[in-house]
Amino acid sequence: MNAIKDNISKITQEIPKSCTLVAVSKTKPNDAIIEAYNSGHRDFGENKVQELSAKAEALPKDIRWHMIGHLQRNKVKYIAPYVHLIHGVDTVKLLAEINKQALKNERTINCLLQIHIATEQTKFGFDEAEFKSLITTEELEAMKNVKIVGLMGMATNTEDTKQINTEFQTIERLFNWLKKHTSTKIQASVLSTGMSGDYQIAIQNGSTMVRIGSAIFGPRNYH
Ligand SMILES: *Cc1c(COP(=O)(O)O)cnc(C)c1O
Repeated sequence: MNAIKDNISKITQEIPKSCTLVAVSKTKPNDAIIEAYNSGHRDFGENKVQELSAKAEALPKDIRWHMIGHLQRNKVKYIAPYVHLIHGVDTVKLLAEINKQALKNERTINCLLQIHIATEQTKFGFDEAEFKSLITTEELEAMKNVKIVGLMGMATNTEDTKQINTEFQTIERLFNWLKKHTSTKIQASVLSTGMSGDYQIAIQNGSTMVRIGSAIFGPRNYH
């Protein structure tokens, strides 16, 4: 049985070569990750610090771990030594803490700013005005150990593909704006949009990184 491997190769063929597939392994056991790893996959996403840390400890060290969930400031220290990319930076205070912990670990941590594009209030992220003021603030220059490499967004959980399309258009527009604000701190190349149910729409709207769980590993029992 090679379902995981087959799902990865099917999705890989559907998305552009320049688009990175992050296999979202949350709630899934280590042997499912190993199956994907053995087929050559290296980018995995988790949304809980404790689960991420346990998996990172147990699994091969050349895995690139993506923290895709909401991140609390007091937990940054646990993932700072090894995390490859933090997708959900949604406050300046969180960014400052990531900078502090990155400095302690003598490394630079790449971050994506999360933009609130969905209608659901339960989803996190900056609105357009907050995002633009963060990018232009001087506070940012002082954070030597973080780099902003792009944006992340989650569309509304809806069947309305027009609405999803509009939301992804919004974040693509902000991503293009960000690309024009390149500096030592800001080098935007990643637009992390698209999950199992909407990654084709994300791709049509400039996604360079899709985060896919259930379409690879099957349904989860909880979110
Ligand atoms: C769980 C999760 C995903 C993957 O969701 P699927 O619908 O299973 O593909 C993507 N992004 C985030 C932030 C998630 O929490």
